[in-house]
Parts: sequence; structure tokens; C-alpha cells
Amino acid sequence: MAQPRIIIVGGGFGGLAAAKALSRTPARVILIDRTNHHLFQPLLYQVATAALTPAQIGTPIRGILRNQRNATVVMGEVTGVDKEQKCVFVTNADRSDVPVEYDYLILATGSTHSYFGHDEFEIFAPGMKSLADAVATRNKILQAFELAEAEEDPKRHRDLLTFVMVGAGPTGVELAGALAVLIRTTLRTDFRRIDPASARIVLADRSPRVLTTFSERLSQAAKRRLENLGVEIRLGQSVEQIDDDGVVVAGERIASKTVIWTAGVAPSPASKWLQAETDRAGRVRVESDLTVPGHPEIFVIGDTASFEEKGRPLPGVAQVAMQQGRYAARAIHRRVTAGSLLGPFSYFDKGNMAVVGKGFAVLQSGKVQVSGFGAWLTWAFVHLQFLATSSLRLSVFLQWVWTYLSGQRGSRLIVSHHGPKPATAAVEADIRAAAPRK
Ligand SMILES: Cc1cc2nc3c(=O)[nH]c(=O)nc-3n(C[C@H](O)[C@H](O)[C@H](O)COP(=O)(O)OP(=O)(O)OC[C@H]3O[C@@H](n4cnc5c(N)ncnc54)[C@H](O)[C@@H]3O)c2cc1C
Repeated sequence: MAQPRIIIVGGGFGGLAAAKALSRTPARVILIDRTNHHLFQPLLYQVATAALTPAQIGTPIRGILRNQRNATVVMGEVTGVDKEQKCVFVTNADRSDVPVEYDYLILATGSTHSYFGHDEFEIFAPGMKSLADAVATRNKILQAFELAEAEEDPKRHRDLLTFVMVGAGPTGVELAGALAVLIRTTLRTDFRRIDPASARIVLADRSPRVLTTFSERLSQAAKRRLENLGVEIRLGQSVEQIDDDGVVVAGERIASKTVIWTAGVAPSPASKWLQAETDRAGRVRVESDLTVPGHPEIFVIGDTASFEEKGRPLPGVAQVAMQQGRYAARAIHRRVTAGSLLGPFSYFDKGNMAVVGKGFAVLQSGKVQVSGFGAWLTWAFVHLQFLATSSLRLSVFLQWVWTYLSGQRGSRLIVSHHGPKPATAAVEADIRAAAPRK
């Protein structure tokens, strides 16, 4: 008898966990992702602030699954699902909308940015979801210092060296803290005309506190730490406008050339493909076994699924996606091998962590609430553990130790396909002064 075919869409935390957990299932597993790599999104902010390189947080999916004989990787974009014909439509390099049939389907397509109805902000305030986004953010940050160094009018330095983060959740807090450390340590002595330490970092959010998913006490600790690092925090204030000249926060214009969107997320369009019921955020409402109502062969997991436990929806975090991925795999394995059903999914919450600058984190797990260096060591240990391969774990560990001890960051590269911008008169004068005298 032909083996069943299991299609997994998405090689992120959920999809990859499911694929690996299916290694012993007598089935053909096909993992489809539009990128060729699994991305460790929690460390994207470290690429954006030049602490890590893209290759240290992204791993080729083919490499991860190369020894799993029942798994095939396809690089392509899924554009739809036909629930009745049991097929997904895939667009790859040379063909569009090719139907690929499945017996079981796991949708793990994650989420994207949400500009809360203000999509026009996107071109001025890009978000951070992919490696390309993180590299673009790094380019933007480093370019701002180069432009300020080349700028003759000191009045413009302030605008060029003002960095605004919109959204004080974990991504905004971690990015603001890392940027403050980058500016005040690594870049401190790199420039001659400007003082990088004079840069202004603003973190704005309409919520009354930072890190709202943490307790009040930890949220206050994170806020104090950011303030000590020189970050200006604007809470309870909405960002009303973002344009080429900066942002308007609660009626006040803040001139800035570098605005980064670290606020809302929206799920992938999986619910539209399935025409399924969603929660208010647009995530697919799933049954207690993570399947779509009326379709026990379709699982939706991770950021794109809405699953309630104790009356509250599970958060969009890596742990939820991984546990759901492993559960979906076990449920399919059980059906394929024993023809029986698994009990309902239940989430084991291991806790929540966020880093604030160098050597400081907040950690909340059950009744445990700690902040400081110990929490940061725990954060580092946990994150190393969850990187995809042992070579990445070693490489990131060594990089962190080196950066911690030396304050240096090797990946301060501005990478773009454009040639260098024409030099200003001030820079030309510097070039002439530096040229060897004949
Ligand atoms: C900047 C940032 C920081 C974060 N920090 C933390 C943290 O500190 N701790 C934590 O627990 N969580 C954190 N998260 C959240 C965490 O990364 C997500 O909850 C988790 O990645 C969700 O896993 P997933 O499998 O649902 O989706 P993802 O991991 O996002 O994977 C989705 C995959 O689907 C692929 N895909 C999407 N659409 C298609 C399509 N149409 N066709 C083919 N492939 C497709 C994508 O390429 C991607 O590989 C962070 C997220 C971000 C963006």
C-alpha cells in the first residue's frame, strides 16, 4: 500500500519541529518553504545591531533534514489550498500554482507585520521578520552614522542620529537595548567628526508599560534598565504619523531618519486559503487537536493558529509553535500506525524572557520572576540550546563571549548593491588630508 503523503507548509519553529518528529512515521513528508532556511527569529535583533551575522541565525532546511530519509524539502511559495481535492498550490522558480496532493496537511506559515491599518507607514518604518529585514535595518542604522559623519551642518546630525522604535514589546525592547550598547561601546571611538554616544534612541508605545506580557515588576525593571542605557521611553502615546522626516508621537514631531517598526504582527493568509473561522487577530480557530473544524486531516499550528487554553489564546511564541508541531506529528503518527486518535493538545509554559542591553534580562516562569545577570545567563543558555545545529551553538557562544569581553562586533557591514554615495566636501577634505603627501 502507498505510504500517506504529509505536506508541511513552513520550515519555521512549528513546521520544522513537526517534520523532525515525523522521522519514524511510515509516510512521505514534504516540507515546503518559500525560503531555503530555517530562521531563529528571536535573535534577529542581534543581526540588526551587528552582534551576529545572518549565517549564525539562519540554517538551510535541506541541511537540517538531510539525514531524514522520509523527508523532502521543496523551496516554493504556497498560494492556496483546495480542501476538497486535498491539494496545496505551490509556485516555485519556474512554475506557478502547481497542485501538490496531500493526505495530511500541516500549515505552519507563521505571521507577518501588522501596521494596524496604516500600511503606508511600512516604507518609512520597516519591520523585522526575515534575515533580509534584519540586514536592511543594520544597513540603515550604520548608514545613519556614516551620513552624519559626512554631514557638514551639525544641526542635521541630531535628525540623522535619532533612532525611533515603534512598539515596546520584546522586539522593541531588545532592539533598543542592543542599539544603545552598540552606540555607546562598539561605535564610540569609530568616528572623528561625530560623537556616536550623542545619538538619541526613542522607544514609543501606546501601552502604559513596556513588555506588557510580563509582570508589572519585571516591566518596571526593564524600563529602568533601558533608561539607564539612555533610551528615551514614551509610553501611553500613540504614533500618529510616520514619514520621511520622522514620526509624530502624541502630537509632537520627532525628526528621525531611522524609524523601525517593532509593534504588531498579523498571521499568514492561511485562514483565507482555508476559508476558516478566525479570531479577531485573523488566526485560524482550531479544534482541541489543532485541526480545522470539519477537516481532521488539516492541522494549523504556531503563529497562524488560534488555540485557547484556560479561556485565553496561547501567545505567538516559539515554544507554542514547537510544541504544537510535535503534537501534530504525534497525532498523525498515531493515526497512520494505529488508526487511533491522540488526546487534546495541552501547552506546557516554560516561561518568558527578554534581554535588555548587555548582561541583563527579565525572566518570568510560573511564580518565578527574576531580572539581572542571572536571568541573562539563563536566557543565553536557553537560546543557545534552541539553535538549529551544534555548529551554530558553538559559533554563537564564541561570538557572544568575544563581544561581551571586547565590546567589538565584527559584522558592522553596510551591504547593498548600490555603489558608494558621492562624497561631500567635508569627506573629500578628509580624504585629501589622509592621502600620502607627494
Ligand atoms: C523579531 C522577532 C523576535 C522574536 N522573539 C521571540 C522570543 O524571544 N521568544 C519567542 O518565543 N518567540 C519570539 N518570536 C516569535 C517566534 O519567532 C514565533 O512565535 C515563531 O517563529 C512562530 O513559529 P511558526 O512556525 O508559527 O512560524 P515561523 O517560525 O515564522 O515560520 C513560518 C515559516 O513559514 C514560511 N512561509 C510563510 N508563508 C509561506 C508560504 N505562503 N509558502 C511557503 N512558506 C511560507 C516562512 O518562510 C517561515 O519559514 C519573535 C519573533 C520575531 C519576528
